[in-house]
Amino acid sequence: MADVIVGIDLGTTNSLVAVCDDRGPRIIGCGSHGGLVPSVVRFTAGGLVECVGEEALGQASSQSARTVSGAKRAIGRPYETAAAEVRGIGSLVDDGQGRPTYAVGATRQSPERVASAILRALADRASAELSTAVQRAVITVPAYFDDAQRQATRDAARLAGVEAVRIINEPTAAALAYGIGRAGAAPETIAVFDLGGGTCDISILEVTPPVSGSGSGDLPGSADSGFFRVIATAGDTSLGGDDLDVAMARSIDPGLDGLAPGDRHDLVRACEAAKVALSGASSASLAWRGRKHEIAVEHLRELAQPLLDRALAACARAWDGADRLPIDRLLMVGGSTRAPFVREAVGHFFGVEPCTALDPDCVVALGASVQAAVLAGDRRDLLLLDVVPLSLGIETVGGAFAKLVMRNASIPTRATEMFSTSVDGQRTLLLHVVQGERELVRDCRSLARCTLSIPPMPAGIPQVEVTFTIDANGILAMSAVERRTGIRAGLQVVPTYGLSRAEVEAMEQESFTHARDDMRRHRVIDLVANASLDLGWIDAALARAGSDLDQATKSNVEAAASTLRGMVAQARRDVDAVDAEAFHGAKEALDRASVPIHEASIARTLREMSATNQGKIQ
Ligand code: ADP
Ligand code: MG
Repeated sequence: MADVIVGIDLGTTNSLVAVCDDRGPRIIGCGSHGGLVPSVVRFTAGGLVECVGEEALGQASSQSARTVSGAKRAIGRPYETAAAEVRGIGSLVDDGQGRPTYAVGATRQSPERVASAILRALADRASAELSTAVQRAVITVPAYFDDAQRQATRDAARLAGVEAVRIINEPTAAALAYGIGRAGAAPETIAVFDLGGGTCDISILEVTPPVSGSGSGDLPGSADSGFFRVIATAGDTSLGGDDLDVAMARSIDPGLDGLAPGDRHDLVRACEAAKVALSGASSASLAWRGRKHEIAVEHLRELAQPLLDRALAACARAWDGADRLPIDRLLMVGGSTRAPFVREAVGHFFGVEPCTALDPDCVVALGASVQAAVLAGDRRDLLLLDVVPLSLGIETVGGAFAKLVMRNASIPTRATEMFSTSVDGQRTLLLHVVQGERELVRDCRSLARCTLSIPPMPAGIPQVEVTFTIDANGILAMSAVERRTGIRAGLQVVPTYGLSRAEVEAMEQESFTHARDDMRRHRVIDLVANASLDLGWIDAALARAGSDLDQATKSNVEAAASTLRGMVAQARRDVDAVDAEAFHGAKEALDRASVPIHEASIARTLREMSATNQGKIQ
């Protein structure tokens, strides 16, 4: 890591830094706020940088005179145009030469200087985590940035003591993060929809990957090599998630604009928190002036409709600019695309299922780091993606691993399997996507989870069809549908991110070492599931059979059931504590002992049937 180059997404609302090594790209500083650094800077009265990010944002309303946010909107632009559009904190004034600058106390702070403080904070974060002085970065800018805006971004980096080795477009970075543009792949048209806090950008790109064997291996083409061409952009520079927060706040307190700035800020932030919660729940609540307000997701969607209409109008302009070329892939970027209704609306507009495998907050920074690694020439060890390096599947009852796609399957590939429930009345099914070669989930790598909510049914009745689709870039899409009700759930992930080639080999080796034990454990887990079903049935059947059975048969069944029950309990505590053969034997013994119960139950059913038939004749 001597001469590491990082990737930086310098955002209007939030900024991030990422690095790409042999495990693929990853965000630095994920521990705090998912690595997001609010693009907010507070200066001292004397004009020095006092703090950046979360701390500056947290006290923005009480320290507004010394705080600046949203500088990306002003950077590299003439004062006139910047002032017309500026939002965020800080008072923008003309520097006397037609350029915008922030009045902070008696000092003047240029947008470049504000951006440089953010870049410095990100570089420091990276230096600390990577234990090396990070001095070079690939920095992203919106596709519509002109030369002056790009140059100003470079200047900001220089002020921060960081060399901007390359400035790349945000949508191109998003495509790189998704591994698009790999040598030998077919050309495609992609749409990148970016809805952040205060801006909405749509770009249509034409990707023409280099031919195979051109020396670039499986690496995505370099962003500036002409493999990624922006053919149209459109957007709305005053449309974003923040507008929805304000619309929510206004629906709660119509007098919003008359509130004291601190109160207004608090209400808007509470609305933002509720909005974020509503991306994963059907309702959320917030307290305002001693009253609790319940907000349903349908209500949020109604409030969002005018904003969505504007976003879709921008999509239409961009697509028209690209002569309505069919879109092969739609990438989702920006925190606001976490809202399911945003994904649906935009996906529906372009007629494709949006790609959501990567966190939309992180995708631009991740892609910048991929470009950085290509420039640094150290992507040689990245996993080859013509095959699935490790098996993929889902967790089943008892922590067993059901593999759907086997290791070394060539991609693209697809696999489907049916699953059901093991408990009566089960309402949620946990779909846990797992990767690895071992038999138990605890020995494998967990990739992602989601839940499928179904109406209660007896165990074994739901029919859940799980499908894994892996595309040419190695992106896995899992979808699950319960066939009786049509209820669906799904997710997307990139299984190879976070894994180095050496780790894949180690996992494979381990599976050989543990093959015997693993097989036995898997068998015990299956036995636990089957024996539990039998035991549940036996109890009810014994109670029903009652006087139809003689005492000897009953005690026989009870003894066999009790032995098996003991083994189930033991195996549940520790899979290794029971002998699989003995367990299997005990289950068979119960099967044999319970034959008379089955017979008695059949005899009773026949009696009842003839009784009802007689009833009908008369
Ligand atoms: P920018 O590109 O402008 O820096 P981001 O991409 O970081 O902005 O997006 C920030 C916006 O995303 C904010 O308006 C925030 O409220 C919104 N956001 C973040 N998470 C969610 C979520 N789970 N659901 C809906 N909106 C979200
Ligand atoms: Mg952004």
